[in-house]
Amino acid sequence: QIAAAGLDVTEPEPLPTDHPLFKLKTCVILPHIASATVATRNAMAALAASNLLAGLQGKAMGKEIDKEVLDAAGSNLKTISTLSVGVDHLALEEIKKRGIRVGYTPDILTDATAELSVALLLAVCRRLPESVEEVKNGGWTTWKPLWMCGYGLSGSTVGIIGLGRIGQAVARRLKPFGVKKFLYTGSRPKPENAVEFQAEFVPLAKLAEESDFVVVTCSLTPDTKGVCNKDFFSRMKKTSVFINTSRGAVVNQEDLYQALVSGQIAAAGLDVTTPEPLPTDHPLLSLKNCVILPHIGSATYATRSAMSVLAANNLLAGLKEESMPSELQL
Ligand code: NDP
Repeated sequence: QIAAAGLDVTEPEPLPTDHPLFKLKTCVILPHIASATVATRNAMAALAASNLLAGLQGKAMGKEIDKEVLDAAGSNLKTISTLSVGVDHLALEEIKKRGIRVGYTPDILTDATAELSVALLLAVCRRLPESVEEVKNGGWTTWKPLWMCGYGLSGSTVGIIGLGRIGQAVARRLKPFGVKKFLYTGSRPKPENAVEFQAEFVPLAKLAEESDFVVVTCSLTPDTKGVCNKDFFSRMKKTSVFINTSRGAVVNQEDLYQALVSGQIAAAGLDVTTPEPLPTDHPLLSLKNCVILPHIGSATYATRSAMSVLAANNLLAGLKEESMPSELQL
């Protein structure tokens, strides 16, 4: 009837190996691979991830993956893929116990988050939001020597809580501003991370006492929860500036509020708060010396797109029981 046939798609798929079509020399059958080039499948993963992101835009997403969510998901849940490097929203012990794998997105968001940390630091120490407001509300009148003065980085000491990927990227960007000295804390000294900045490993109390700028870039763990508290702020200089781009719970916000109101520290900039979003009547929002951003550390188009592709590829690899591009070691 016809000379020959070539099929990339069959019914069913896969076609049973004893199917009569396989016996014919005039019939060539492929395993549904029409789009299977590395470039095409990568592009498809990127587009699917972008579609997913667009679909999620504007939807309220519960962030916590706790025991209750895991119980509801049941034993079919094999893989979790988070669009973040922070994993404090995942009940890791419980996840490990159930043999669930976790993909996350380190490295590719480091530059964007460090850039935002520096932008926030500069906005706070040079009082940019206040200055913009003064231009709009008529507060800008004659030139006055000390009006809208802030604190500069030149000759300063910068203390970094958590000299990890983002902490180092922040230090790298701040160094050319003329920072005199870098201090850092962590669970142990990391000479390999510190050498580029000749950063000195110090106890938290010393970091608070000696820094002109404190930048928090550690992960949120039981050890770091609430470490920036009354004792910490009381040790900081009255002229110092506090920046947090890690997680809100590293900071005791009541204590931070008191430190800002009482003039114990000069100013603060937060990209992360507890809770998120911060209620619009929160006391911190009434302070001129506190700048709060809505958790936008990694929010550049390129970074979010790269995060989406990595998260999608992690998920695909997890589902196929292959090694993930970025798997969290539990
Ligand atoms: P890394 O794992 O590279 O760095 C985390 C750092 O935290 C390490 O240097 C670690 O130091 C430090 N740390 C852990 N315990 C302590 C402690 N007790 N005291 C001080 N430091 C400690 O992670 P990243 O740099 O990639 O990311 C850091 C965090 O930034 C993320 O966990 C996330 O919460 C936050 N983040 C926020 C974003 C935003 O939008 N604002 C975007 C991206 C990330 P050590 O190894 O010595 O323990």
